[in-house]
Amino acid sequence: LVERMRPFGTTIFTEMSALAVRTGSINLGQGFPDTDGPAEMLEAAARAVREGAGLANQYPPLPGIPALRAAIADHERRFWSLPRDPDTEVVVTAGATEAIAAAILALCERDDEVVTFEPYYDSYAASITLAGAVRRPVTLRPGPDGRYGFDEGELRAAFGPRTRLVLLNSPHNPTGKVFTAAELALIAELSQEHNTYAVTDEVYEHLVFTDAAEPHVPLASLPGMRERTLRISSAGKTFSCTGWKVGWATGPAPLVSALMRVKQFLTFVNAGPLQPAVAVALGLPDTYFTGFRDQLQARRDHLTAGLTEAGFTVQPSEGTYFVTADITPLGGTDGITFCRELPERCGVVAVPTQVFYDHQEAGRHLIRFAFCKRESVIDEAAQRLTKLG
Ligand code: PMP
Ligand code: GLN
Repeated sequence: LVERMRPFGTTIFTEMSALAVRTGSINLGQGFPDTDGPAEMLEAAARAVREGAGLANQYPPLPGIPALRAAIADHERRFWSLPRDPDTEVVVTAGATEAIAAAILALCERDDEVVTFEPYYDSYAASITLAGAVRRPVTLRPGPDGRYGFDEGELRAAFGPRTRLVLLNSPHNPTGKVFTAAELALIAELSQEHNTYAVTDEVYEHLVFTDAAEPHVPLASLPGMRERTLRISSAGKTFSCTGWKVGWATGPAPLVSALMRVKQFLTFVNAGPLQPAVAVALGLPDTYFTGFRDQLQARRDHLTAGLTEAGFTVQPSEGTYFVTADITPLGGTDGITFCRELPERCGVVAVPTQVFYDHQEAGRHLIRFAFCKRESVIDEAAQRLTKLG
């Protein structure tokens, strides 16, 4: 293994999901739903596989099939008022993960710096390292009301002459934070002042709860940002099909073209028969998207109540599949130890968020629970967690 990848062990998701299987625990660690997505989408995939006439099951075009690119462009205009040319400004990828990796590999020279927020989704650090670039994480910390924020001076200080891009995830995994208009304006100001690119990971774009302080706004829609931003999303979260790995990136033609230059040698193309099915899903009526959000919000409320009852201090989650909790009131000091022992103690698996920080001390006492599970599963987990007290 090359030296630069040696610090990256097995991902925490693999470790914790294996632990859940081994101990027969309820897995609230890795974020995947335990029910299937919309029937129209599933049927469209089955139909494409069956009736492919030899075509749907073969290599799709490099940027993705035209119907899916058109659906992605329509979706972006409909929800975010961002018009895109489906022929030059949209590319389909192997999940958001490939889009993130290809964007970083396409834009960063060796030793360039990437500003991002910690805790960060774990593939960010690995992709930045693969590109030979350097991460400059700005720490998100829970404030007195439990909401995560960051220090403006710290963000300003993270930008410098080597900053190539800012990598922003909002709504944010693992904190459930939705970046506010003021925070986005500051990021936009600094990106323009330092003439950087932006890559936005918006896989949870449809999971912003009705009590969030502010709605989700794509960074690309702020003045001066469209021409420098690659916006990334994925079908996995919105349509409960995390195993399909159908994602996409949108942006100005030169940036999409740069990403595609790399992408063609990573995977070339992806998941032929799943592409028409995701096109169907993206065209579902608004009620699908709001209904899905309401369902997840109810589950969030359920789990938050259970965690509070069990004695955790819970940080309010405004979006995503996740909520974080402080283990200190339960006598915990180290999230990694706590999560490794949790299955034995009560048959539940969670994820320590410490592993998503460079400044690990900031997240040592925090762990993450996923609530994208059936109510009965959340109830059972909550019941088991009360044994901790
Ligand atoms: N970014 C974030 C913030 C995520 O939570 C996930 C899913 N775990 C991804 C990217 C990856 O998405 P995909 O499965 O579409 O590659
Ligand atoms: N995005 C999911 C999570 O954060 C799963 C990630 C993964 O398994 N790589 O839990």
